[in-house]
Amino acid sequence: MKTVFNQESVNLLGLNQKNLEEFFVSIEERPFRAIQVMKWIHQRGISDFSQMTDLSKELREKLENNCVVKAPEVIYEKTSEDGTRKWVISVGNKDLIEMVLIPEKNRATLCVSSQVGCAVDCSFCATGKQGFSRNLNLDEIIGQVWVAANSFGVPRSPNDRPITNVVMMGMGEPLLNFDPVVDAMNLMMDDNAYGLSKRKVTLSTSGIVPKIDDLGKVTDVALTISLHAPNDELRNKLVPINKKYPIKDLIDSVKRYVEGCSDKRVTTIEYILIEDINDSLELADELCELLTQIDCKINLIPFNPFAESKYKRPSGNRVKRFQKHLQDNGYVTTIRSTRGDDIMAACGQLVGQVNDKTRKKERAENKLKIKTKTI
Ligand code: SAH
Ligand code: SF4
Repeated sequence: MKTVFNQESVNLLGLNQKNLEEFFVSIEERPFRAIQVMKWIHQRGISDFSQMTDLSKELREKLENNCVVKAPEVIYEKTSEDGTRKWVISVGNKDLIEMVLIPEKNRATLCVSSQVGCAVDCSFCATGKQGFSRNLNLDEIIGQVWVAANSFGVPRSPNDRPITNVVMMGMGEPLLNFDPVVDAMNLMMDDNAYGLSKRKVTLSTSGIVPKIDDLGKVTDVALTISLHAPNDELRNKLVPINKKYPIKDLIDSVKRYVEGCSDKRVTTIEYILIEDINDSLELADELCELLTQIDCKINLIPFNPFAESKYKRPSGNRVKRFQKHLQDNGYVTTIRSTRGDDIMAACGQLVGQVNDKTRKKERAENKLKIKTKTI
């Protein structure tokens, strides 16, 4: 189907390469202009068409009259004591999302949101507790990478890549917003845009099994599974989508995904540790047994507390005990360091802010919808 453009104000940040090519054809230009403009926008961080000097003056004027390069609006920015940076971004209608940049020695990992809120409603997650408002569009997802990269200075040179890794681990369940997330990840990996390798773009999912299969048909980015429990009885309580897609189906879909990748893959298993809920050594044993089926490494995330939750983070010793047990059974097991929790930027603390009561109610209703709806 041919894309119809409203030429009044096309936001070029929201177009993938194919749509950008179609756009140029629609304004009677050659399709290769798409790549030139992608480089200006994503590689160099330029939004002002007059600076796109390899385009004719006539085309620059045409673009100025018909288009914008508009990222969602940053309304708050803060840097934590440990260097972690958090941005709160407005996407209209009082909807807020958050993104977090974690600088380390030789890399900078950006944690990107895919939805406003989340309907999956995991029992330990602050985003889930906020309910679901809406899916983000491509411009709002790739706009987060654009904003973070531009915070290092504009214009960038094409070889200057300040963001080295992206994890789709901010607010939302990325596989429930499939097309814009895939388009955004493609731009992240495109040499004419952010140039990240497919191993440095990670999609984390609570386990939407048919969508993992769909993902395998269109890409082979790194996959992380938010498992959190080794048996269905416990996982049903922590990650309610498990009632629909139980652990066996999930593991089978991971096997299919990995088989479809063009190179050898080790899947990351995320396991949040909550005191007296899922941190016993019996459960560690069960986890070891379950994971013999796939080639994986385990990332333990000590639970990050937030106001509405009664769960507790286990002591450091208990976390290490669980880790050692997995390691003794041959699993590479890391503990995720809690970065940025002084600015509420740690995992599961990303909530945006929902102040008004009607919005809160709407979001809670959306949360209920997913429980009754077939995905
Ligand atoms: N929806 C996707 C991606 C976003 S959540 C998913 O669930 O995988 C990103 C990670 O943060 C997940 O592994 C999730 O389990 C974890 N997380 C959520 N709430 C948390 C909390 N309160 N403390 C620690 N980690 C949490
Ligand atoms: Fe959604 Fe992930 Fe939070 Fe679960 S952990 S509610 S899937 S964002």
